[in-house]
Amino acid sequence: MSYAYRSKRAGASRSRRPNFPRNNQRKSGPRFGQYIDPSRFVATAVVKEEEKYVPTNTFTDFALDAVLQRNLSAKGYQLPSPIQDQAIPISLAGKDVIGLAGTGTGKTAAFALPVLQALITSQHAKAIIIAPTRELAQQIDEEMRDLGRGVPMNSVLIIGGTGIGQQLGKLRSNPRVVIGTPGRIKDHMRRGSLRLANFNLVVLDEVDRMLDMGFINDVQSILEETAAQKQSFFFSATMDAKVQSLIEKFGNEPVSVSIKASSASENVHQDVVHYSGTSEKMESLHDLLISGKVSKAIVFDETQRNVEKLHKELLARGFKTESIHGGKTQGQRKRALASFKENKVNILIATDVAARGIDVADISHVINYSVPKVYEDYIHRIGRAGRAGKVGHALTFVKKEG
Ligand code: AMP
Repeated sequence: MSYAYRSKRAGASRSRRPNFPRNNQRKSGPRFGQYIDPSRFVATAVVKEEEKYVPTNTFTDFALDAVLQRNLSAKGYQLPSPIQDQAIPISLAGKDVIGLAGTGTGKTAAFALPVLQALITSQHAKAIIIAPTRELAQQIDEEMRDLGRGVPMNSVLIIGGTGIGQQLGKLRSNPRVVIGTPGRIKDHMRRGSLRLANFNLVVLDEVDRMLDMGFINDVQSILEETAAQKQSFFFSATMDAKVQSLIEKFGNEPVSVSIKASSASENVHQDVVHYSGTSEKMESLHDLLISGKVSKAIVFDETQRNVEKLHKELLARGFKTESIHGGKTQGQRKRALASFKENKVNILIATDVAARGIDVADISHVINYSVPKVYEDYIHRIGRAGRAGKVGHALTFVKKEG
């Protein structure tokens, strides 16, 4: 199984975004924008020889239980990725860890394995894993289940968009692992269905994104409820003052591990498509999709309404598409993503929020049917193409001046 170690966004410039009221953040409604010069959407991919990372450890060097070693083999993970290589020994020594690594680096297993090992070693161990989006929480849940096969953990996923009743039932059965998004975790705490006082392993994934999304208060109040004696894992693609102050408040002499990043967009050809009016825009998209160049594309548009409109229009034109946005139920989002992953459809229309954390390996094109609100979103969008060291393409629709 080939695996390209890459980390995104570390070192990428960050644009400041105002703090919005929480309720708005969950939707893909309009946000304050930034003018982005269209020239920033044009670049030639630099096809570099992948620098081969030689890990210091093999998985068998780590003090991981035989069950975990077996699960790693079953998953086809042969060698630790850089973040795993460096973060796992520190975590297994019981220290708090700050992992600076983006999606696609293997960061999930970097915290999942030490957490699982702790669950095996101590029957008092309990873990709470917090992620900014439902999709990411779901991916973590899947990875934990794969890597933790045979480990008694009774894990529960608590995210929005799915019925709360089932979650209540699962929470009553005393789970040792809770994975969720900040809003829903807070809901359960408020209802008294989740008490965190005995949770002594705390993972915050994509901390920077979580704080950008305005979850700071939720995250803080969740952390305040966890056990006083705990081990914490902070994973973030970037480090800024907000992330730092959260870690200072809740970390206990954490050890930092940073994965050197090449620029997020280095292996993505970037170009613009000029259009004058709405019908020309649609025809250009149609031409592009039938050009034979696009094998699998994610098309970004701005609002839930526009995403649905575009999805219907493309379906009517005979394309195989699915749509994903915050207005859909979790089940619908999951099914849409699965058909895209399994190539039942080759076009996914999405809003920014819904696309966060999506890990689909073979996307040939990212099409920005609308210009992203802020440059950071652009970088995030185009990072969906060109994964696993392949060259990807990003095309941004830009309205002709005048
Ligand atoms: P993540 O950054 O955790 O989302 O992982 C990115 C992708 O790499 C996922 O598809 C993982 O299944 C895969 N992966 C993680 N660690 C390894 C490894 N050591 N060897 C091979 N694949 C891996």
